[in-house]
Amino acid sequence: MKTFANSNARDFQHAAALVQQTRQEGRAASLVGGGSDLLALVKERIVNPDVLVNLKTIKGLDQVRPANGGVNIGGLITLDTLSRNDVIRRQFTVLAEAAETVATPQIRNVGTLAGNVCQRPWCWYFRNGFPCYKNGGNTCFSFGGENQFHAIFGGGPSYIVHPSDTAVALLALDAKFRIVGPAGERVLPAAEFFALPQRNPARENVLAADEALAEVQLPGLRAGTRSTYHKIMDREAWTHAVVSAAIVLEMDKQVCRSARIVLGGVAPIPWRLPKVEQMLAGERITEALAAKAAEAALEGAKPLAKNAYKVPLTKGVVRRTLLELAARG
Ligand SMILES: Cc1cc2nc3c(=O)[nH]c(=O)nc-3n(C[C@H](O)[C@H](O)[C@H](O)COP(=O)(O)OP(=O)(O)OC[C@H]3O[C@@H](n4cnc5c(N)ncnc54)[C@H](O)[C@@H]3O)c2cc1C
Repeated sequence: MKTFANSNARDFQHAAALVQQTRQEGRAASLVGGGSDLLALVKERIVNPDVLVNLKTIKGLDQVRPANGGVNIGGLITLDTLSRNDVIRRQFTVLAEAAETVATPQIRNVGTLAGNVCQRPWCWYFRNGFPCYKNGGNTCFSFGGENQFHAIFGGGPSYIVHPSDTAVALLALDAKFRIVGPAGERVLPAAEFFALPQRNPARENVLAADEALAEVQLPGLRAGTRSTYHKIMDREAWTHAVVSAAIVLEMDKQVCRSARIVLGGVAPIPWRLPKVEQMLAGERITEALAAKAAEAALEGAKPLAKNAYKVPLTKGVVRRTLLELAARG
């Protein structure tokens, strides 16, 4: 591993200034939260920073606070604290459930929400240093290679899947992201934060190199809203989703008033299903409707040579999650 210096940030403006200053000196800087992803990349020499800008020294961004009828969540909250927070568990259940499925207790104790959302892909070609798009090259080795865990939607020219469980839940909850950089702040809807590889195959989101994700804002939910996260893995723990579904339903007795459905593990970004959401609005969620929704969810899927199994798997996840959530009192 290359040696690096550590700089503790006082606040996000200071962090952005440290990154800028390091780059102006012709050296590389990386932001670090818990370090559970970044340090693995440094050890493997995939990322080679001269300076790590430590965000965990910024005070007050590890809390959930009421705001505008919803909540604001500091980006430096650990996944463990987030998943145990009473308000998140009760009102934004899908996020608590997604956070508690991440990795292991040890990683959830150090990993931050912002770090989870901004983690790099876990494609084996990228992580093993192949000169792919993500490593500065101009090809995606998974397309003609080992693509068992790669995208069936939204792929090309890179076919990674977005790795974050919490990102899927945050899009389902219509979250907004507060981003801080040297030029000031901007707030983006989650839908505009994640970016398909057509835009820039080297990146998974629209953050500039000197910008940080400071806070996640969740709008309040209407009465009758319930939500859940279901995740399928290739082993029982310690790993990313092969396929997952975050579903938020606003129910009026047995009738679904509105739905937000987002899939994980199937695309380079959390993958929303607007057509399926429309199909459910104003309807009772019966076995027949859930089966129809599951079929519609996979319309347009383009599996690669070795991941067609994800199509029936995803249909099953959508159907079962919908029925289970609709049946909750
Ligand atoms: C064995 C293993 C299993 C895993 N399984 C899962 C899983 O099932 N589900 C899942 O979702 N994840 C999984 N992960 C990934 C894990 O959740 C992430 O490593 C962790 O959430 C990252 O958080 P962190 O704070 O440690 O981020 P760091 O390692 O500090 O940073 C991760 C990336 O985000 C950037 N970054 C960090 N904070 C910010 C910020 N505030 N603004 C902008 N950029 C920032 C860093 O520069 C870096 O590129 C797994 C990891 C391991 C090692």
